Amino acid sequence: MPGDTGYAALSEKLSLIMSAINLKSLSKKELESFVKEQGLPVFRTKQLLHWIYERYARSLHEITELSKDLQEKLSEKAYISNLELLNRQTSRDGTEKFLFGLEDGESIESVLIPDDERLTLCISSQVGCAMGCRFCLTGTMGLRRNLLPYEIADQIISANRLIHPPIPPLARGGKGGVTNIVFMGMGEPLANFDNVVKALWTITQMIKISRTRTTLSTSGLAPKIPELAAKAPLVNLAISLNATTDEVRDYIMPVNKTFPIKKLLDACRKYPLAARGKITFEYVMLKGVNDSDEDAYKLIKLLRGIPSKVNLIPFNPYEGSEFRRPEDGRVLEFQGILTKGHMTALIRKSKGQDILAACGQLKASKPVF
Ligand code: SAH
Ligand code: SF4
Repeated sequence: MPGDTGYAALSEKLSLIMSAINLKSLSKKELESFVKEQGLPVFRTKQLLHWIYERYARSLHEITELSKDLQEKLSEKAYISNLELLNRQTSRDGTEKFLFGLEDGESIESVLIPDDERLTLCISSQVGCAMGCRFCLTGTMGLRRNLLPYEIADQIISANRLIHPPIPPLARGGKGGVTNIVFMGMGEPLANFDNVVKALWTITQMIKISRTRTTLSTSGLAPKIPELAAKAPLVNLAISLNATTDEVRDYIMPVNKTFPIKKLLDACRKYPLAARGKITFEYVMLKGVNDSDEDAYKLIKLLRGIPSKVNLIPFNPYEGSEFRRPEDGRVLEFQGILTKGHMTALIRKSKGQDILAACGQLKASKPVF
């Protein structure tokens, strides 16, 4: 409605926002430069970092350690972006799913999974995914776009803020929030490499979640695995293996045609692991496709020599899928063979199925109000 004063005010605000700097988009070094440029003392950097990443401030005006004048002055130059909570669903088992809106109208999902003393957040790295795995609902969306580093990290800040609103008292700092991060939401993290690496630095250094409590899961972009080890903090690695022959893997995961099983496992063998560290191999169990005894024996053979643990994930069905979930007994027998073969094999309890929050069920459909 051009001419309308409300519209004029809004567009003025928008142009200000567009030329202003988003503090969440700055690395630690860039924030230091910004603080310097504003003629502020060095300690302001630490203060801003603390308020943005550990106290989840959603605007400069929430940073009460800054005087009103300073809040105003900085607001002319900078702002703090936020994900918009579009929907929040809670499962019967306590799992929660958040639908977050991005600045351009796209949306992503993150899943919060409480488990004993851990609080794991499963985060997205892309809107949709281009890898086209046949058993994955996210795959049916195709890739809409990569997430920016701050959009990846902001899922954690937003979840923490939602867990204890409005702002936790100073004494609590970041404690009591998310303890573990898994890149197992929407998207293939290694296909959004540079942004994911930046986000990993933010997560480990600014949000201060330990790299040993952070896990990146990939469908197998093999050449990116050594690059990850070289450029990112050394996080835990999970591989969505899902098959024991190239024939089956080619069919269910097209990425295998470019980087077949041998290439992928060679890259895994070279990934630097901490003492007693292990690579997690995820194995989605698809009835009649990859769940035979023979598959279990082949899996033992394939992973020989790699410090590993296997996560068996019985297929989570969704409408229109060509696959079925094996019976519980079959999953247990498969696990039994692995265990007898001296492997650590866990069956992943897929949490949050009633709210479509389980592995492979994320699609970020807009809520219907
Ligand atoms: N793109 C990365 C990160 C997503 S992790 C990757 O694929 O590793 C999502 C995990 O859920 C993967 O291990 C995938 O194999 C698994 N998955 C996908 N669809 C699934 C489904 N329908 N049921 C069970 N697990 C599924
Ligand atoms: Fe993408 Fe992972 Fe789903 Fe494959 S399993 S389509 S890589 S999100």
